[in-house]
Amino acid sequence: MGDFSLELGDDQKSVRDWIHGFAADVMRPAAAEWDEREETPWPVIQEAAKIGLYSLDFYAQQYFDPTGLGIPIAMEELFWGDAGIGLSIVGTGLAAVGVLANGTEEQIGTWIPQMYGDVNDVKVAAFCSSEPDAGSDVGSMRTTAVYDEAKDEWVLNGTKTWATNGGIANVHVVVAVVDPELGSKGHASFIVPPNTPGLSQGQKFKKHGIRASHTAEVVLDGARVPGSCLLGGKEKLDERLARARERARGGERVKNAAMATFEASRPAVGAMAVGTARAAYEVALDYAMTRTQFGRPIIDNQGVAFQLADMRTQIDAARLLVWRASWMAVSGKPFTSAEGSMSKLYASETAKKVTAQAIQILGGNGFTREYPVERMHRDAAIYTIFEGTSEIQRLVIARTLSGMPIR
Ligand SMILES: Cc1cc2nc3c(=O)[nH]c(=O)nc-3n(C[C@H](O)[C@H](O)[C@H](O)COP(=O)(O)OP(=O)(O)OC[C@H]3O[C@@H](n4cnc5c(N)ncnc54)[C@H](O)[C@@H]3O)c2cc1C
Repeated sequence: MGDFSLELGDDQKSVRDWIHGFAADVMRPAAAEWDEREETPWPVIQEAAKIGLYSLDFYAQQYFDPTGLGIPIAMEELFWGDAGIGLSIVGTGLAAVGVLANGTEEQIGTWIPQMYGDVNDVKVAAFCSSEPDAGSDVGSMRTTAVYDEAKDEWVLNGTKTWATNGGIANVHVVVAVVDPELGSKGHASFIVPPNTPGLSQGQKFKKHGIRASHTAEVVLDGARVPGSCLLGGKEKLDERLARARERARGGERVKNAAMATFEASRPAVGAMAVGTARAAYEVALDYAMTRTQFGRPIIDNQGVAFQLADMRTQIDAARLLVWRASWMAVSGKPFTSAEGSMSKLYASETAKKVTAQAIQILGGNGFTREYPVERMHRDAAIYTIFEGTSEIQRLVIARTLSGMPIR
């Protein structure tokens, strides 16, 4: 014993403070404008690229932090700055992780740099899994990938929806069905290189929140990609499919590898939610200390002060759940109680609640666009939806705890 500590190391503190500086000085002042414009904030992404914050190097450094806290710390600070701009900056990282996790070394080396571009010509990437009829129900995916052996090419057909950076990305990572008999075990991921004929952007969505982040449909109409674009390679896919078919024949329930990946990635979304919640809480605390009614600051009333006490307590609890799950992921600890899902569930619900309370504490001002909390509240609504809704997190947790096929 004696080793336990929640104290961050000096390097972690300095990275946190560096990101915080960018979030406070560059993201916050730009947040309202890009929210109104509902466009990708390319100049802000470029600023981030200039200082090395938008880069593979930075993302990889945080990803490989041995404590597991590199990504959650970075996410919390960026999303404290602004959620819409934050997602525009980290959306590429989410696609890059798909390649880092499943790609060969050659694929990682070829495609990830193209996802980011360079300082003078920044690019973004998109991860396209969801479809109109396959949101929570990933097994209903219809986009197909068919191998054309003669040409060593894969042919992709289908419509993806809700893709962050979809259609504007330089590189798209697309999940498609290669064996419909195997449900979600018959899926594989493909790189779609820049300017591939047959890939186009469908509808761009006008959204409730995170409006600085581009979300759109991606249409794949006979898009052909080289055999080398199958993540992990054909040999590995064939082995994986053969194993899955074998188990399906034997009636064995196949452990879903994707679920383990989600457990490891969900805390990152929890950390984004903590960032938004903390931002709204800070505005509310400051307002409550300075706004005077009945001849005293409104925080002088327990009705207001206790709300702030609860807000802060829940934010800290959410962060601890996020840190625990992130540490478990990096230490290879099994998520025996779906701790990754727990962290995402609690942090995202906390962000929704805390941002709503912040509006209440600011009264009429909270309801206007003169103050940032209404934007933060609109932004917070996404956390309980993407990367698995709150209901799906509860399903995963309950199934893991009980071992029952709860529906
Ligand atoms: C802004 C934004 C960005 C996104 N970015 C991406 C991206 O980059 N890439 C990508 O692939 N996807 C992305 N998504 C998609 C996102 O992951 C899905 O929206 C999400 O998984 C939910 O799917 P759905 O919208 O089809 O809702 P549905 O699955 O139709 O769910 C509707 C409601 O039913 C509930 N429900 C469904 N099934 C159950 C059940 N079994 N038990 C209890 N309740 C249930 C859900 O919880 C929800 O409340 C994004 C979405 C948004 C809004």
